[in-house]
Amino acid sequence: MNAINELYQEIIIGHARSPKNFGKLLACTHFAKGDNPLCGDHVDLQMNISSDDVITDIAFCGDGCAISKASCSLMTECIKGRTVNEAKCLFKEFHNLLTKEDDASKEENSLGKLNILVGVKNFPMRVKCATLSWHTLNAALQKEGVAISTENSDV
Ligand code: ZN
Repeated sequence: MNAINELYQEIIIGHARSPKNFGKLLACTHFAKGDNPLCGDHVDLQMNISSDDVITDIAFCGDGCAISKASCSLMTECIKGRTVNEAKCLFKEFHNLLTKEDDASKEENSLGKLNILVGVKNFPMRVKCATLSWHTLNAALQKEGVAISTENSDV
């Protein structure tokens, strides 16, 4: 393992141990629950979206493996303060990064530190752990209050 991979792993473990935006909001405009039964990951996501479509606040709770927690922590950090459209674009880019055959990691993207999760691509069983938080985010953005599972056909 090279130094950069070790560094990435440390960041992931750090987020898993003390996740950012972990907890519950007093009130929220959008929420969704996500499940990854293959690994036993659960995420409960809450957001406040302002009238001009800005994600002003976001929090999550739940339980799961280090990858799912770290991914959710990183996601909440990255999308807080962004517009709904920006969050949707990031979801697409992140999903492509982990699921597309061609090496999207070599291309320029706007994912910033979310790129540290690209190593998960080498472990197909864990890709759903990393994308669960994003599918849950997407569900919350589509409709208020829904539950999704990675084992639904379209996830
Ligand atoms: Zn997992």
